[in-house]
Amino acid sequence: MKISQAAGNVCTISASTTQKQKTEKSSDSKIIYLKDTDCVIQSHASLSAFTSYRVGGDAEWYAAPRNLEALQASVEYAKEHELTVTILGAGSNLLVSDRGIPGLVISTRHLRHSYFDPQTGQLTVAAGESIPSLAWEAAKLGWQGLEWAVGIPGTVGGAVVMNAGAHNSCIADMLVSAQVLLPDGTLETLAPEDIGYSYRTSALQGSAAPTERRCQRIVTQATFQLQPGADPAIVLATTKQHKKHRLTTQPYNFPSCGSVFRNPKPYAAGWLIEQTGLKGYQIGGAQVALLHANFIVNRGGAKASDIFCLIRHIQHQVQENWSICLEPEVKMIGEFQAAC
Ligand SMILES: Cc1cc2nc3c(=O)[nH]c(=O)nc-3n(C[C@H](O)[C@H](O)[C@H](O)COP(=O)(O)OP(=O)(O)OC[C@H]3O[C@@H](n4cnc5c(N)ncnc54)[C@H](O)[C@@H]3O)c2cc1C
Repeated sequence: MKISQAAGNVCTISASTTQKQKTEKSSDSKIIYLKDTDCVIQSHASLSAFTSYRVGGDAEWYAAPRNLEALQASVEYAKEHELTVTILGAGSNLLVSDRGIPGLVISTRHLRHSYFDPQTGQLTVAAGESIPSLAWEAAKLGWQGLEWAVGIPGTVGGAVVMNAGAHNSCIADMLVSAQVLLPDGTLETLAPEDIGYSYRTSALQGSAAPTERRCQRIVTQATFQLQPGADPAIVLATTKQHKKHRLTTQPYNFPSCGSVFRNPKPYAAGWLIEQTGLKGYQIGGAQVALLHANFIVNRGGAKASDIFCLIRHIQHQVQENWSICLEPEVKMIGEFQAAC
C-alpha cells in the first residue's frame, strides 16, 4: 500500500495494491482520506446502484460523509480542488448520464439522526433519513402528518429540495425549518418562506448547470410539524392504505424515478401521454409504463441514453398533439446527446 501526504488536509492512497483484489476495475482508482474525519473520497465510483433507475456512469469523485464535520470537509476539499459538487440523496429523482458526473458527488445516505419532540410535536431529522421509514415510525408512535409520504422513496434532503408531495399534501405544508450548508462552509436555518416553494419545486433546486451547482446549498437537517397523540392503529391503517394505493396504481415492480413530468395543470401528464398513444412505447430497455404513463421504467438493461431519448420523444409527441410542453420533474445530471 502506497500512502502519500498531499496538499492541505488530505492524504491519498493509491488503490493499485489495496483495492486490486476487490475489483479489477478499481485498479486505477484512488482513495483520499480527509484528515480529522472518517470520510474518504473515492475516484471512479459507480453510481448506478445509488439511483432508483439503476442506470448511470461513474462519479469522478465520490464521498458519503457520516456527520456534519465530514460533509463540511468534503465541500472544502471540492472548493480547494475546484470540483463541482453534486448532491445525491436516495437518487430516486435523478437520471445520471451514462458518461457519469464530473467533479465530486456527495451522498447524504449516511447523514442520519431523528428526534421526535413530544413537547412540540416536531420531528427533527438529518438529510439522509429515509422518508418512508419516517412515515412508518411516526405512524407507530401515533403521530399524524406523514401518512401521505410513505410511497416516496427519497431522503429528507431530497424531499425538502423537490417539495415532494402526494395525496394532496407536500413537504412545504409541514416544514418548520431547514438547515443548509452554504458554499462558504457556514450553516444557515431557513424558514419555508425563504425556500420559494411551489408545485414540486423550490429555490434550493438551483440549476443543473455545473457552474451554478458550485453555489448549491446543501440541506443538512429539517424540522417538520406533526400531530402527536393519535391512536397508532388509526395512523398505521391510513399509512398502509396509502402504500396499498400506490402499489396498485404505480409500477413499483421495475426501476423508475416515479413521475417523469410535472403535471401541466389542468392536465395530468400521464393522461396526456396515454391519450397520445405512448403507453408501452419502448426505446432500448426504457418503456413508458403500462400501469401509469407518467412513469418510465427500466425493463432491464436500459441505458440512461434510452431513458433520455424516450423523454425527448414523449415531449415531442405531446407538443405535436396538444401544443403542451411537458417539463421534466426528474433531474438529469451529466452530459446527454442533444439528438437521439
Ligand atoms: C417509485 C417512485 C415513486 C415516487 N413517487 C413520488 C411522489 O409521489 N411524489 C413526489 O414528489 N416524488 C415521488 N418520487 C420522486 C422522488 O422520490 C422524490 O422527488 C424525492 O423527494 C427525491 O428524493 P431523493 O433523496 O431521492 O433525491 P435525489 O433524487 O437524490 O435528488 C433530487 C434532487 O435533490 C437534490 N438533493 C438531494 N438531497 C439534497 C440535499 N440534502 N441538499 C441539497 N440538494 C439535495 C439533488 O442534487 C437533486 O437535484 C417517486 C420516485 C419513485 C422512484
